[in-house]
Amino acid sequence: MAKQTKYIFVTGGVLSSLGKGIAAASIATLLKHAGLKVRILKADPYINVDPGTMSPLEHGEVFVTDDGAETDLDLGHYERFLDENLSQDNNFTTGKVYSSVIEKERRGDYLGKTIQVIPHIVGEIVRRIKKAGEGNDVLIVEIGGTVGDIEGLPFLEAIRAMRVELGRVNTMNIHLTLVPFIKVAGELKTKPTQHSVGELRRIGISPDMIICRSEMPLNRALKDKIALSCGVDKNCVIESPDSASIYQIPLAFLKQDILTPIAETLSLNKLEVDMSNWDSLVKRVIVPTNETTIAFVGKYIDLKESYKSLTEGIIHAGATLDTRISLKWVDSEKIEASNVDEIFRDVNGILVAGGFGSRGVEGKILAINYARMHKVPFLGICLGMQLAMVEFARNVLKLKNANSSEFDPQTEDPVIYLIDSFIDASGKKQIRTHKSPMGGTMRLGGYDCDVKKGSLLGKIYGEQKTIRERHRHRYEANPKYRAEFEKHGLIVCGESDGLIEAVELKNHPFFLGVQFHPEFTSRLVRPNPAILGFIEASIKNAR
Ligand code: GLN
Repeated sequence: MAKQTKYIFVTGGVLSSLGKGIAAASIATLLKHAGLKVRILKADPYINVDPGTMSPLEHGEVFVTDDGAETDLDLGHYERFLDENLSQDNNFTTGKVYSSVIEKERRGDYLGKTIQVIPHIVGEIVRRIKKAGEGNDVLIVEIGGTVGDIEGLPFLEAIRAMRVELGRVNTMNIHLTLVPFIKVAGELKTKPTQHSVGELRRIGISPDMIICRSEMPLNRALKDKIALSCGVDKNCVIESPDSASIYQIPLAFLKQDILTPIAETLSLNKLEVDMSNWDSLVKRVIVPTNETTIAFVGKYIDLKESYKSLTEGIIHAGATLDTRISLKWVDSEKIEASNVDEIFRDVNGILVAGGFGSRGVEGKILAINYARMHKVPFLGICLGMQLAMVEFARNVLKLKNANSSEFDPQTEDPVIYLIDSFIDASGKKQIRTHKSPMGGTMRLGGYDCDVKKGSLLGKIYGEQKTIRERHRHRYEANPKYRAEFEKHGLIVCGESDGLIEAVELKNHPFFLGVQFHPEFTSRLVRPNPAILGFIEASIKNAR
């Protein structure tokens, strides 16, 4: 018989943005360090089928898994904390649940029954949770939203039912709440926590553990009061303090001995962990020895959440290199020929991030031109690589009107063009793409990339012949111009199935453009080599 997966359900109360995802990821990290096979699932009650079509302004970054799912940005945190690849089974939404139930109904799978929230929708949620749990010792299930949301009810009913079905030793409920500090009273208040737990109980769920977010430390008496009023054991009130780094949270939980009540509740053997490597990386995040400044050129700089994986990837590289990386955020729309020198004069490296749409494109090209001409370390990601090729085509190959057909469909020199046409021309249908409802075809997820021997890319990836990175793009470098580029020093250093995956400049300390998104595979304990290499080059470029 297959072993029984144990489930830890994490719900949130009082308000959103308390860091439920980080709490779930932190517990997962500790369990993994204790030698268990752990995965995490995020179940989102919103109606979109996935976040792929949501604006970054609405929902932060779209995180892409290796198997090509466009998921919630919390999945990125999970992978970064857990150092495991997750899949499309690790995130689902109400939209996805309803779609599959309706599809089955249309197919006649329900044999003429009336389809209802209970049992059909709830049953589908349970089925998906169990599928994500298969083959693991523990599955942590984070329920998105806040207790009391109407749309979250079927999800809570699903976890209630799972506890009844699987029994207490196989399930645990953890509830995260806010313990606010009221300045005028000079006191921390537990009432919102009590109300939130009351709301949970009303729908049949009793928490086994309460995690309290608070800007102040909670003393023993207050923790005991919460334990008593919420009906949990005294060692099951854990605080999650404001921290200088999110990577401190697992250590803060460990200090409070969170693993003992988890092991007790789930009837696991004593859980012992060695977090010393993690601990030393975190120390280097908080008090590093060195410092460097990177210009981060993007167009969503008012909403830094849309670059979450990339900013985390930079932190990971900093931890390994014992360096604080100050980011100079540069709004690409504000870069002009007249101010480009001034903007980039004092930075050690220039990073041009990915993006969609024409806003800010010419500013990014000016930034790339500066990096190329002034020999400042440069990393161009996805759109950043594409624009590096446009810049080179215009200013070195003298193709004055070169462009990406994304921005000028009629351009006479489409050095970047639509993947669709490439696929049609060569007959390569095996590329995993998805038709977006907005039109167009995205190339998504992980692909192998062959690395050119002796190249900069090869050097930073430890001379691996093949590397694997993730993608999310529609447009592609046009191979028609390849020979011309290479003749003038912009070399193709990475290829995937005939597609140009990476380019680098000869006679430059570090100038690399990658079609893939290196940030999606960066982890605290294993920073991504492209980002690491770029930061290392920037540190060397003391200005
Ligand atoms: N807009 C470009 C494309 O679709 C780049 C996408 C990106 O940077 N993620 O190919």
